[in-house]
Amino acid sequence: MSPTASSREQLPRNRTREVRIGSVTIGGGRPIMVQSMCATKTADVEATLAQVSQLAAAGAGLVRIAVDTLRDARALAEVRDRTDANLSVDLQENYRLAAEVAPRVDKIRYNPGHLYHHEREKPWQDKVRFIADAAAENDCALRVGVNCGSVDPAKREKYAEGDSVGPMLESALEHRELLDRLGFTRYCVSLKDSDPRTVIEVNRRFVLERGDVPLHLGVTEAGMPPEGIVKTRIALEDLVRRGIGDTIRVSLTVPAARKHEEIEAARRILDDIAAGRFHDEEDSRLLRLNIIACPSCSRVENEAFVELAERVREATRYAADQAITIAVMGCRVNGPGETDDAELGLWCGPTFVNLKRGGEKLGAFSYEEILPKLKDELDAIIAQRAQSGR
Ligand code: SF4
Repeated sequence: MSPTASSREQLPRNRTREVRIGSVTIGGGRPIMVQSMCATKTADVEATLAQVSQLAAAGAGLVRIAVDTLRDARALAEVRDRTDANLSVDLQENYRLAAEVAPRVDKIRYNPGHLYHHEREKPWQDKVRFIADAAAENDCALRVGVNCGSVDPAKREKYAEGDSVGPMLESALEHRELLDRLGFTRYCVSLKDSDPRTVIEVNRRFVLERGDVPLHLGVTEAGMPPEGIVKTRIALEDLVRRGIGDTIRVSLTVPAARKHEEIEAARRILDDIAAGRFHDEEDSRLLRLNIIACPSCSRVENEAFVELAERVREATRYAADQAITIAVMGCRVNGPGETDDAELGLWCGPTFVNLKRGGEKLGAFSYEEILPKLKDELDAIIAQRAQSGR
């Protein structure tokens, strides 16, 4: 064992419940497991297998794959047959796919905020029972993955506008309570936001309520390196030092061939925390103009997404000192919701990019037209702020 691995393993750990996921176990004071997700089209079996191998070789204890259709589920079966890596599936709106995928994977992630789209008349509790039964029958763990941009609408309505912590926390606690009542205890929880301060607060409050449940930590849509790494580092430095977190993902907007950088960044952050090295003011300055961007996955609607995010960063560098958030998302599933809190939001369609300013949709523009349009809107925001003295 290298000296680095040894110090990483000596980080303070809370005594959470043990949850086995294939050949790894999280919780119970064990070292923090690092994981990642494929950005390939799941139906492209060869590309997905290559990425699973790449991530596992870099040190991922678990690799997540998006499954939205029966075609994806069939591809997953082939991937499962050809790799020993621990696999997790990310279910979005079609909760019934849990029965298809559970025999093939070690963990299923479901998002409470996505249980409302299919079979609207059916109570969400019945859908959770369906997922939990499929997991239990197939030796699978679960993750209740609560996300700021797709939080349960019923919860969002109960809280003041701008309160992102309350709805996420209540949603996670409600699902935790139901799973416990169903007798399914092999689960972990994640509470993710694109703002590291919110990630810190919501996870700390969850631990105060239920410190025994293992937590998966991460900053969602952290964006491109180095900014995306700095954001994740800020959240993890606070939480991990308190013993919070059993598994982590550093979500980075990088091309598929560089996905292993997520694992390397996660290990480096843990090593630095163990060695007492923390982010400084210079790092924080990188975040003034805040570009949040998703890490892309099988659902991305145009291969040019990562390049688009990079072009947005280059085109807006002149505004680096402005406290403005620009969100760039890869698809229409999560794009509209995940851009809600940004001053300017972009999300990909197959041949166009949607743009909105605040809550107002400005239209869809070609990949060539979008940058000049974005800059016009950015300039208008800066001019308005200058006028009002902000
Ligand atoms: S926004 Fe869409 S493409 Fe991006 S990671 Fe989320 S689901 Fe995948």
